[in-house]
Amino acid sequence: MAQRLALSDGAHKKTASVRVAVRLRPYMGTQDEKDEGPCVKGLDSLHLEIINWRNATETVKYHCDVFHGEQTTQQEVFLSSVKPILSHILNGQNSSVFAYGPTGAGKTHTMMGTSDQPGVIPRAVREVFKLVKAKDNNEGWDYNISMSYLEIYNEKVLDLLSPSSQDLPIRENKDKNILIPGLTHTTISCFSDFDKQFAPASLNRTTASTKLNQRSSRSHAILLIKVVRTQRALPHRQQTGKLYLIDLAGSEDNRRTGNQGIRLKESGAINLSLFTLNKVVDALNSGTAARVPYRDSKLTRLLQDSLGGSAHSVMITNIAPEYKFYFDTFGALNFASKSKLIVNKPFTCETVAVPVLPMKRAREDHEAGGSGTE
Ligand code: ADP
Ligand code: MG
Repeated sequence: MAQRLALSDGAHKKTASVRVAVRLRPYMGTQDEKDEGPCVKGLDSLHLEIINWRNATETVKYHCDVFHGEQTTQQEVFLSSVKPILSHILNGQNSSVFAYGPTGAGKTHTMMGTSDQPGVIPRAVREVFKLVKAKDNNEGWDYNISMSYLEIYNEKVLDLLSPSSQDLPIRENKDKNILIPGLTHTTISCFSDFDKQFAPASLNRTTASTKLNQRSSRSHAILLIKVVRTQRALPHRQQTGKLYLIDLAGSEDNRRTGNQGIRLKESGAINLSLFTLNKVVDALNSGTAARVPYRDSKLTRLLQDSLGGSAHSVMITNIAPEYKFYFDTFGALNFASKSKLIVNKPFTCETVAVPVLPMKRAREDHEAGGSGTE
């Protein structure tokens, strides 16, 4: 079978503007009525493969910046994909971390986690406090940390810390910084300050979502941690660094019906912000686009100063191994990966029991006096 490279990552482009990690969650029998076993699996720390639906004797092998297999812990994801970009926000630079992928693939687990297995958000917030505390007082800067928490739903910007507020505007100041006038900013001085605001707001969002027709899978939840540092001596220079931690809307194609295959018609995009984010990341990572279409959606407009350019961005693409996610996994991987390769090799599902057919045949062979092997 011919080898195909989807996107060239040639020598001219050493670092992508947006680092892309893929995280595969563990196989869950409860998510798989037919108990068919996984259809995707990791190969090493950079590669994974998925069975090729067009030809089951082939797999499609993907290459990403980092692959986190199903055994990867929350701590490992944080250390390798998130921690390295955090120090920049103390120096007036911006960073963003996204969880991308279909509903059910582990975005919220990755970002929020549970009390036993806290995710990227609590770990990152703790780390920011730790970094500020470790700053040498003699350097002469005072630090202020604040948080905002918002949601983009149906292209409306809603303040999750002030739930009665209406759609907020997004503005740009003369220094090209993006601002949301009217958005709640709360100063936080320790992790529990943060948690007191964040936990109930997150809970509100989840409870509302069950009533409002899967709203949480269609909206982007955006936590902003802002670090402002001010020089004590004249001229009191001030620097602002922003960290966006984002649980994106589900990337599943809501227009897919039955088994008619994936339809990626641009005009029909249900979630304009997610669709535009794909275009922006593609434009940034291919380095070829003359214009990065930030202004085409609320999410990308909001992130204009924190995604690409001099910002430090990481996208964690969450995928699920069950067959029912197959086309959404394919879609997410085609977006996330640097290259793909069709490999002429049968897919082996290592975690499933021996299929019924060969065992039955072996028994029949045995009963017929055969060797029982093929
Ligand atoms: P999403 O936010 O993408 O819709 P969730 O984070 O809600 O997905 O994950 C779906 C289910 O899978 C949840 O029950 C979650 O606890 C579980 N899950 C996701 N990722 C993992 C993981 N890495 N390890 C264990 N369980 C996971
Ligand atoms: Mg979720």
